[in-house]
Amino acid sequence: MEVRVAGVRKEFSRFPALHNISLDIRSGELIALLGPSGSGKTTLLRLIAGLETPTEGTIYFGDEDASHKTVQERNVGFVFQHYALFRHMTVAENIGFGLKVRRRAIRPSKQEINRRALELLDLVQLKGLEKRYPAQLSGGQRQRVALARALAIEPRVLLLDEPFGALDALVRKELRRWLREIHDKTGHTTVFVTHDQDEALELADRVVVMSQGRIEQIGTPDEIYDNPNSPFVYGFIGESSALPVRVEKGEVWLADRTIGLKATDVPDGDAQLFFRPHDVDLLGDCGGCLVGTVITSRRSGAKRRVELEIGGARNRVEIEIPADHPATDKSRLAFRPRYWKVFAKNG
Ligand code: ADP
Ligand code: MG
Repeated sequence: MEVRVAGVRKEFSRFPALHNISLDIRSGELIALLGPSGSGKTTLLRLIAGLETPTEGTIYFGDEDASHKTVQERNVGFVFQHYALFRHMTVAENIGFGLKVRRRAIRPSKQEINRRALELLDLVQLKGLEKRYPAQLSGGQRQRVALARALAIEPRVLLLDEPFGALDALVRKELRRWLREIHDKTGHTTVFVTHDQDEALELADRVVVMSQGRIEQIGTPDEIYDNPNSPFVYGFIGESSALPVRVEKGEVWLADRTIGLKATDVPDGDAQLFFRPHDVDLLGDCGGCLVGTVITSRRSGAKRRVELEIGGARNRVEIEIPADHPATDKSRLAFRPRYWKVFAKNG
């Protein structure tokens, strides 16, 4: 285990930003902290870095209690969304800076620093740009330099707080793949903060889903997407449709009809049914399934998206059907989700 966050709570003048967070980060893994704005991602990252101290709980680096160690003692590397490169330093000098200030028994020579800076430039694919100044670089290139600078100190843990957040969508996507490649080459234990679920799912070995200062779920991208363990995670990751239902003796009811789904692990009472719009089977005839009235219908890529009203004006869901399906306004569609999950209300 590289980093262990054990029962950490963080308050800012009585405001609880994090409640009882426990998380093990394995050596060499790339972990994403994913959640909406204000969920506590940055606070958790700053606690791991040593920029904040926990109100309660402990942060271990290896077997050592690092809760009160400084950033330097923890030897972490950082990249932030708006990383301030030194404007008056060239790319090579910016990267070398980390090496120069690093406390070491033997200070590296000028040549050594230069050699290492060029090596890192090669790694982040910016060879040839070493003499440029930050103002002469694109946003994406600057973040590559920032990463090279963070890597220059050979950090024990690399911490990235929405590093691509300020860049446009295309560059973000490219840098995402690139970061994964760099990670696979260098093997640094990395914690990556993002509010973008695609970014987290594509990039990370494991995803930590956060909401309101709590960890909702930890799992591989497949586990998180295929088996969300709460209504929040189901709604936050991927697309979902939800309906208020009732469970009686393991059968799922919508209004006064059973809908042909079982929920044997859910206690009797009010519940919520979740499914993915693209994971449904249309049925011709329906004795025990979902039946809805088409409210809107629009082409969406290779498919057609319809919004349906089911068993009451407030119950609307979206499903995906074949593009050539003759669904028009007010037509009735019968379907059943292929994969679904039922969550007890307040459970
Ligand atoms: P995220 O990075 O997920 O957007 P943050 O960790 O920045 O979330 O913030 C979590 C909560 O803690 C927010 O409600 C935020 O306003 C609060 N918070 C963060 N830092 C401070 C601070 N220094 N002082 C007071 N409140 C803070
Ligand atoms: Mg943040």
